[in-house]
Amino acid sequence: MADPDCIFCKIVAGDIPATIVDEDERTLSFMDIAPATRGHALVIPRAHAPDLLSVDGEDLKAVALACRRLAGRAKERLEADGVNLINSCGAMAWQTVFHFHVHVIPRYEGDPLRLPWDPAPGDPEEIARAAQELART
Ligand code: 5GP
Ligand code: ZN
Repeated sequence: MADPDCIFCKIVAGDIPATIVDEDERTLSFMDIAPATRGHALVIPRAHAPDLLSVDGEDLKAVALACRRLAGRAKERLEADGVNLINSCGAMAWQTVFHFHVHVIPRYEGDPLRLPWDPAPGDPEEIARAAQELART
């Protein structure tokens, strides 16, 4: 179902323009208007769902497969050295458009992108406590 206030639903409907690079029955992929690197694309389900936690499972699978198609093309055709898939779930996690999407970001040797955290060994007890919560069914 479309959300009349959603910018990505408007792209799906063809009401606002987008540079489409891939599509299938369930998904649409188009270029990000503010690319992090050359070839940065967004993959979305055609059906509106605000985020990762609400997206239909079959749509999620279709989005994952579309991401893999684009990642392969980025390597083959844009000569990317690697690819990041990024999903932000919730405003605190940097989500700004609330129609589920995955960023497919080609990576190039020497590009300016950096990890947003400094990897450092964690406290094993705290890791174990968090793991207990995550594993609880
Ligand atoms: P988020 O911040 O939610 O993870 O990602 C939203 C992305 O959508 C941003 O990278 C932003 O540049 C992109 N974006 C926002 N509005 C539009 C638009 O109208 N067209 C396109 N192609 N991308 C958009
Ligand atoms: Zn939408």
